[in-house]
Amino acid sequence: MRPCINCGGTNFGEGETRGEGKVHPQNKLFSLGVPLLLTICLDCGEVISMRVKNPKIFKK
Ligand SMILES: [Zn+2]
Repeated sequence: MRPCINCGGTNFGEGETRGEGKVHPQNKLFSLGVPLLLTICLDCGEVISMRVKNPKIFKK
């Protein structure tokens, strides 16, 4: 993985949003939504990447 863009650190952890932080498809009123998965620099807290667990639910 590339070093942190903020501090150059190379130690990363994984996190995910819970509860209100879920992402829902824009055009669907009723969906469970999916959490955002974050890769976080352990040295400065910079979020290196954000992705969703199940991208297929966003297909139109
Ligand atoms: Zn960093």
